Formats: sequence, structure tokens, C-alpha cells
Amino acid sequence: MAPQKTINRSQELSFAVNLMEHLVVPTFVLDPDCRVIIWNRACERLTGVMAEEVVGTRDHWKAFYAEPRMCLADVLAQDKATELDTLYSYHTEPSEHGHGLKAENWCTMPRVAEQLYLAIDAGPIYAEAGQLIAVVETLRDMTDYKNAQTALQQQATLDGLTGIANRRSYDEKLHIEWSRAQRYAEPVSLILADVDYFKRYNDHYGHQGGDECLRRVADMLQRQVYRPTDMAARYGGEEFAIILPGTDLDGALTVAERLRADIEAMAIPHAGSEIASCVTLSIGVASLVPTRDDQENALVLMADKALYQAKGKGRNQVCSAAEEA
Ligand code: GH3
Ligand code: MG
Ligand code: MG
Repeated sequence: MAPQKTINRSQELSFAVNLMEHLVVPTFVLDPDCRVIIWNRACERLTGVMAEEVVGTRDHWKAFYAEPRMCLADVLAQDKATELDTLYSYHTEPSEHGHGLKAENWCTMPRVAEQLYLAIDAGPIYAEAGQLIAVVETLRDMTDYKNAQTALQQQATLDGLTGIANRRSYDEKLHIEWSRAQRYAEPVSLILADVDYFKRYNDHYGHQGGDECLRRVADMLQRQVYRPTDMAARYGGEEFAIILPGTDLDGALTVAERLRADIEAMAIPHAGSEIASCVTLSIGVASLVPTRDDQENALVLMADKALYQAKGKGRNQVCSAAEEA
């Protein structure tokens, strides 16, 4: 019978430390006073900070952030879960994972000079008597995944040609703001703007020239929208919309007239226009304080009617639903 190999307690410990050192998952361990006791190779590769620089110190934050702050392991060691909201862009409730914490954050990574989006887990290690003896923090680089997710979100909400909000975002936004306005009995205003003689613009400057013109008009629209609750969107083709929650007709007319004048002042040449030598907009404005039974479609119909009026009256002008009669 082969002699049985026995390993004593200290061999066990060095085996465990060795294992952690060579683990492919970036990992570091803090003692209960938040001093680094292990900083593994994968953590060195991820952060560019070597173990000898941080082991025995409380300087581990320097691997991730430009300013001193708590890392997730510190939060756990110091029982400061109430700070998670201010420290992390995303975290799960501590109760969901027993005694551990889970969070995600964009980290500045000063040593590697590259922003990384890290998924972070922190787990406590308790002695048999129940007291905390260490906290293990493991890190996952989720940057590529996060960037792909952001790109997908943008694709779903932004118009591909102009980069402003797309029709889908507009529909959702109008629905939300309409419901809010119904609840609080506040006005919602809608501006619909349509490029004049745009078919002829395409005919004269080509479709790509037309696309460039739409981009420039959209940029200007976006600049008119500086309140965080407002939204400029591409409604479709050469038509744009601005949703102005909490704004009455006078306020919306001011925005619309400024937009009309700014587009004219851009003086984008338009040889095909019958009314000017440059690109112009016809604009319809409507404003409603919705009652309980109103549908948001009522506002759209009013703005559309006003736009039709602006076209009929000679284009390059603003009409409002109130002028209907
Ligand atoms: P009006 O002054 O009455 O608005 O006339 P208009 O020519 O602007 O209106 P019409 O609806 O007849 O034509 C709109 C044109 O917009 C036709 C279409 O080819 C063009 N258009 C729609 N979407 C795009 C786009 O994404 N790029 C380009 N280049 N043209 C587009
Ligand atoms: Mg049109
Ligand atoms: Mg048009």
C-alpha cells in the first residue's frame, strides 16, 4: 500500500493562497481593517498595479479610481451598504446574496489609463466563532458587453440618419408625458416641423445631399431643446417633432418661431424652393391640458392641422391650433 500523503495546516494555507494567486479571476482579499492581504496575478494584469504596491496598505482604490473612495470589499468590511447608491451605477440588494454584495461600475483604472466597466462581487469569510476575518473581492471586465448593450439601446431609441430620438422614442415619450399631464392637469405642447419643398431639394442636390440637409436641421432642432424633459425627434421622412411637457402655447410658439428663424438663418441653399433661396420649415404648434378622457392623438391632430395651415399660408411660418377658426 502506498504511503498516504498528509498535509498539515500550514501547508493547507499556503496551498490555498497559491491557488488564489493563480486563479484566472482577478481577485483581492482585505482583512477586517481593510488592508490588502492578497492581490492575485489576474488582478495585477487587470489593473496594472503590482501586489507589492498594495499588499499591507489600504491603497487598493488607486487601482480603480482617481480619487480615494471605498471599494465594494470596504463597503462589506465596514458594513456601509447604505452608501452603495452613491458609489455604484448598479448594485443588487444585499439580501439577495446572503452576506455578499454585487455591484457594477465604470472604473477609471488610472494605471492602465482605460475606462473599464467592472462587475464586482464581494464576499465575507467568517471564522468558526462567527467573526469576520477577511473579505474577498472578485472582478469581471464587462466593458465589451456594456458597450454592445449601449450601442443596441441607442439603435433602438435613436434615428439612424440624424442621431436624434426616433419615432419609437417619440411615441413612448408622448404617451408618458400625456399621462403625467392628465394626472397633474398641466399643459403639454407639441411642435411639428416639416421641411419645405424637400422633394425638390432631393431632386436638385441628390438623395445624399438631402440626407445631409436633414442632419443639419436635426442638429438645430436638438439645440432648441435644452430642458431635460423636452424631446426633439424625427417624426418621419422630412418631418420632425418637439415634445414640450409643462409648456403652454405661448412658450411653445416662442420655441417654434426661434427654430423657424434659426433654420432660415443657417441659409442652407435650396435652389428648388419656390419661396426662398434657402431651406425653410413650416411649423404647426398645439398645446393642451388634457382632461381624463382625452387621447394624446388629439394633440397630434391639432399640431398636424396647424402644420397644414402653415403650408397653405405660404410655408416658412408657424401656425398654432388656436388660429384654426
Ligand atoms: P412640402 O413643402 O409641401 O412639404 O413639400 P415636400 O416636397 O417637402 O413634401 P413631400 O411630402 O412631397 O416630399 C417629401 C420628400 O422627402 C420626399 C422624400 O423622398 C423625401 N425624404 C423622406 N425621407 C428622406 C430621407 O431620409 N432622406 C432624403 N434625402 N429624403 C427623404
Ligand atoms: Mg412632409
Ligand atoms: Mg415637406
